[in-house]
Amino acid sequence: MTKCIGIIGGGQLGRMLALSGYPLGLKFRILDGSPEAPAGHVSPLVSGPLDQLETLDRFADGLECATFEFENVPLKAIEHLSNHLPVHPGCLALEKSQDRWVEKEFFRSLLIPTAPFAPVTTHEGLQQATLEIGLPAILKTRRFGYDGKGQVRLNMPSDVSQGWDALGSQPLILEGLVPFDRELSQVSVRSTKGEIRHYPLVENFHRKGILHKTIAPAPGIAPNDPLEHQSRQAMEKVMEALDYVGVLAIEWFQVGASLVANEMAPRVHNTGHWTMDGAKTSQFENHIRAILGWPLGSTEANHHTVMLNLIGSHRPPEDWLAIPGVRLHLYGKSPRQGRKLGHVNVLGNTAMEALSRSETLLDWLSE
Ligand code: AMP
Repeated sequence: MTKCIGIIGGGQLGRMLALSGYPLGLKFRILDGSPEAPAGHVSPLVSGPLDQLETLDRFADGLECATFEFENVPLKAIEHLSNHLPVHPGCLALEKSQDRWVEKEFFRSLLIPTAPFAPVTTHEGLQQATLEIGLPAILKTRRFGYDGKGQVRLNMPSDVSQGWDALGSQPLILEGLVPFDRELSQVSVRSTKGEIRHYPLVENFHRKGILHKTIAPAPGIAPNDPLEHQSRQAMEKVMEALDYVGVLAIEWFQVGASLVANEMAPRVHNTGHWTMDGAKTSQFENHIRAILGWPLGSTEANHHTVMLNLIGSHRPPEDWLAIPGVRLHLYGKSPRQGRKLGHVNVLGNTAMEALSRSETLLDWLSE
């Protein structure tokens, strides 16, 4: 019988997961709070509140296993579903990644370097933390922050009160500013059988806190580079500590010859979108293989790729499709400022070729 996999969250990640699984002979069911969710264009959608048992049971009925595409799924929903079917990655990974302070403590317990950090719950506590950590620093909400939202940079002591006024109604974390050379990320995958594969390190560029561009593989990193070794070793420690199943991303700051962890995401990741066209197996297909305990596919790059996010609005598909080496992925979402509507993967046989092709497209990006 055809296996049906449940995906919690019907955004672009859920949609691309489902699209990658159909050629493997699978079916999908999506759970989302909104009946309009873009993954619902490609798979049957159960819509309803994620904290309602009746909705969860309707979603779970007859599924082989379930996964999620965003880390702010209510933990209780995953606990409930886990009583009825395998859910990967599990509660532990969610718990560690839903709260920035818990996550940084977890990295620290595994001896993975992070920015200096301190939890903050009061105005006085914030003042004290700025003395311990020093300025400049970044004040962030511990939960529900994404794409640079829920964070304020504190440059001078006089910024402290403003930062507190902006965010102080919830638990916070103060992080020292890491003087990084560049931002890298590691996307890896571990199956229920314990098989692990790593994609190459990639370099990421943000605009207004949102990922703008990924260069894959990251320029200047040779095979067996010590940075790659550090990244993979840390990833394996994290995966093993969590008994992790599925794709996991760790965002790194590169400082000289070392890596400092920014955050992790227990799901397929925007900095892995290049794998759809630039790697032998996409992160989406490998996530599906991993949660089913199937053999993982090769994570080797077969092209140099520049991934550009299409944010806010985009040119008509036919404009992109006219350009050699450009692969278009639109998510079926209506345009709105700051919204990720799609991405393009610009391929080249060399890094120079992919980069110069992507340069000519930069004017086409609205944000
Ligand atoms: P985040 O939402 O924590 O990933 O932060 C969004 C972006 O802000 C990161 O990709 C970095 O460019 C920057 N950023 C966040 N935290 C720090 C930090 N502690 N030091 C330096 N830059 C940071």
